[in-house]
Amino acid sequence: MNLQKSQKAFEEAKEYIPGGVDSPVRAFKSVGGTPPFIAKGEGAFIYDIDGNRYIDYVQSWGPLIFGHCDKDIEQAVIETAKKGLSFGAPTLLESELAKEIVFLFDSIQKIRFVNSGTEAVMSALRLARGYTKKDDIIKFAGCYHGHSDSLLVQAGSGAATFGTPSSPGVPEDLTKHTLIARYNDIESVKQCFEASKNVACVIIEPIAGNMGLVPADEAFLEELRALCDENEALLIFDEVMSGFRATLTGAQGITKVKPDLVTLGKVIGGGMPVGAFGGKAEIMDMLSPVGPVYQAGTLSGNPVAMAAGLAAIRKLKNNPSIYVDLSKKAKRLMEGFQAAAKAEEIPFVTEVRGSMFGFFFSDREVKNFDDALANDTNAFAIFHQAMLNEGIYLACSSFETGFISTAISNEMIEETIEAAYKAMRVVSDAKRA
Ligand SMILES: *Cc1c(COP(=O)(O)O)cnc(C)c1O
Repeated sequence: MNLQKSQKAFEEAKEYIPGGVDSPVRAFKSVGGTPPFIAKGEGAFIYDIDGNRYIDYVQSWGPLIFGHCDKDIEQAVIETAKKGLSFGAPTLLESELAKEIVFLFDSIQKIRFVNSGTEAVMSALRLARGYTKKDDIIKFAGCYHGHSDSLLVQAGSGAATFGTPSSPGVPEDLTKHTLIARYNDIESVKQCFEASKNVACVIIEPIAGNMGLVPADEAFLEELRALCDENEALLIFDEVMSGFRATLTGAQGITKVKPDLVTLGKVIGGGMPVGAFGGKAEIMDMLSPVGPVYQAGTLSGNPVAMAAGLAAIRKLKNNPSIYVDLSKKAKRLMEGFQAAAKAEEIPFVTEVRGSMFGFFFSDREVKNFDDALANDTNAFAIFHQAMLNEGIYLACSSFETGFISTAISNEMIEETIEAAYKAMRVVSDAKRA
């Protein structure tokens, strides 16, 4: 594969942008090599500046459930943009998108739009703290909720449940309010509640997609709900990724457990920058200007972004069978990868939730972050590179989730599986060498 132009572009970008990228994972550090610079997308494909074509299973990390350049979304964006890009004043589009989401999500009575998932989560945490008048939060190791200070936290050493900063620049004073529990391990949550009587909320990805794809067990979520109620803490489902991805109503189409607050992003912007947080009216009405909890945004509810999101959400709502088809394709893809691994006797596990798929080079089932960390990242890196050479664009880290879009055909799935057989052979050869 010729990546000459991308290599040159990457070197030049590094002179002006730290690491050449505006979000670290894009630099391909965990898989090595040069990230292809993307020139354009079309349906299921992306094309880099050297003219290579790839089947895209990243889809801008989740938003593009209809693939690239969906005609309905494109038209909504163009028509809206012609009427002005932003007003910083209420528009009908915001209410329309809010209505659609409130209609679909039982746990959302009111919603507010922001510009990213990070902002949605940051605002939801402030609201939970303001509502409960408590300061501490519980999060799970391996769950990602954006890069706000309170959440850039890792488990402290030993048995300590309070977190320490996972990045320089995050004050310890802040992270000491964040307790870290183990995913799918209710005892670890109980320990956190014992360590602090000041817990405002528990935040969880009910289908974790940022340590690879690791769904929460139903019994675990039920116990989590009960623990939150006992301790008068709010339960926040971070569905920035899983919302409109796992099912039409995200994880909430799978679990019976109801959160108090939900954060959304990615698909609800149809490819434009959007985040949102919503929940019970009683809690949401604590927000300024109704209540005392301050939260604001110059470009929040931006009309172009709302129009793109509205086009995407309406199309999904009107065609719910989309999820059946996406899930079938995801399952077929993972069966194929599994068979390809088996042919080379490579330990491999897979997971599917709706249009989301994940796999680990691992011989054990992955239920939490420790399990995920035990995966063979070296094998993944070799596999990733070999797939890229075959024109298959997968997420460039073993701790990410893959996505099927409606633009991906059954033929493309079969083509991808064929590529996986070749790539598994490359992994196997590298191991023997
Ligand atoms: C992507 C993601 C975020 C952060 O969203 P940004 O738009 O990147 O700020 C938060 N939570 C989850 C679960 C995500 O997948």
